[in-house]
Amino acid sequence: MSDCIFCKIINGDFGTEFVYENEYAVVFKDINPKADIHLLVVPKKHVESLNELDDEVLLSKLMLTVKDVTKKEGIKSYRTVINTGKEAGQEVFHLHIHILAGKMK
Ligand code: AMP
Ligand code: ZN
Repeated sequence: MSDCIFCKIINGDFGTEFVYENEYAVVFKDINPKADIHLLVVPKKHVESLNELDDEVLLSKLMLTVKDVTKKEGIKSYRTVINTGKEAGQEVFHLHIHILAGKMK
């Protein structure tokens, strides 16, 4: 989607560094980290939220991406968060999985 900030990041518009990338997703650092380590796993395909995700392959690939990037980065303990809907705190309406590790801020 042209006015979606995460689509723009995926498109390379801001020169955001990707910590990890595969066929299905990119992973980059959250601009406003809420923990020592705060990464976002973002599908390359624009999906508004978990409520709109009906692609079983993409769903599993996103979770496997969490596993792969944490392994690559040597992050052994972490939390995953998916905010779904405005009332739950979703601010960017392009599905993403937060990975939070270390001390929370
Ligand atoms: P959520 O509240 O679950 O929608 O999370 C959106 C997250 O995206 C927040 O933690 C923001 O800090 C983060 N964010 C917003 N814009 C950017 C950006 N340009 N680069 C990296 N992270 C961003
Ligand atoms: Zn998008």
